[in-house]
Amino acid sequence: MSTITENISLVRNRIAAAALACGRSPEQVGLLAVSKTQPARAIEEAWHAGLHDLGENYLQEALEKQAQLSHLPLTWHFLGHIQSNKTRAVAEHFDWVHSVDRLRTARRLSDQRPPGRNALNICLQVNISGEASKSGCTPGELPELALAVEKLDNVCLRGLMVIPQPSDNIREQHAAFAQARQLLEHVNELLQHPMDTLSMGMSGDLEAAVAEGATWVRIGTAIFGARP
Ligand SMILES: *Cc1c(COP(=O)(O)O)cnc(C)c1O
Repeated sequence: MSTITENISLVRNRIAAAALACGRSPEQVGLLAVSKTQPARAIEEAWHAGLHDLGENYLQEALEKQAQLSHLPLTWHFLGHIQSNKTRAVAEHFDWVHSVDRLRTARRLSDQRPPGRNALNICLQVNISGEASKSGCTPGELPELALAVEKLDNVCLRGLMVIPQPSDNIREQHAAFAQARQLLEHVNELLQHPMDTLSMGMSGDLEAAVAEGATWVRIGTAIFGARP
């Protein structure tokens, strides 16, 4: 077995153990392989091991790999910061965007989604740790943003994405992810169509994220190894 195949099986076991430990079904947790900086052949290997959802952070790099892998029916998720001049390509080439943090971006994605395609799935990125350097709206800005995004025609508001400050402390990990879940529940009370997605948990903290309700975990290093 290749390293990537082996790693995927280890990650799946971690997800299943974490889900079962808190009474969730492992099927409720999607595994998103984060392939930034990894070559197309690594993605192809992940595909053969059963992974169909790919997360990318850098548009140009993602478009190149999409072209190389057009023979595979992959689902592409955009995770990176979105500059205004990149929204059209993102709207055209992705199925999900996890990193929307302002209405202007959501509006452009909706306007630029090609006719005939399904609505673009959107998660709102929330900066729960309040780190100045991080993208994401503040928890205080979230309700108004969610209400406005819900009204857009060609995007579907699916949920929230968070990247908490990395911590080795399990209690701190849980607290951050629990805060994201509570935010989702709070905002859902205001929406016409409740959100169903919590995109949270990476290689180092997926267990805590699953315990707090993650529906996508975004895993790079634990699948592909350290990034160059
Ligand atoms: C790189 C990245 C990941 C994956 O992180 P790992 O620690 O390598 O699993 C997840 N989410 C986002 C937004 C990323 O940029």
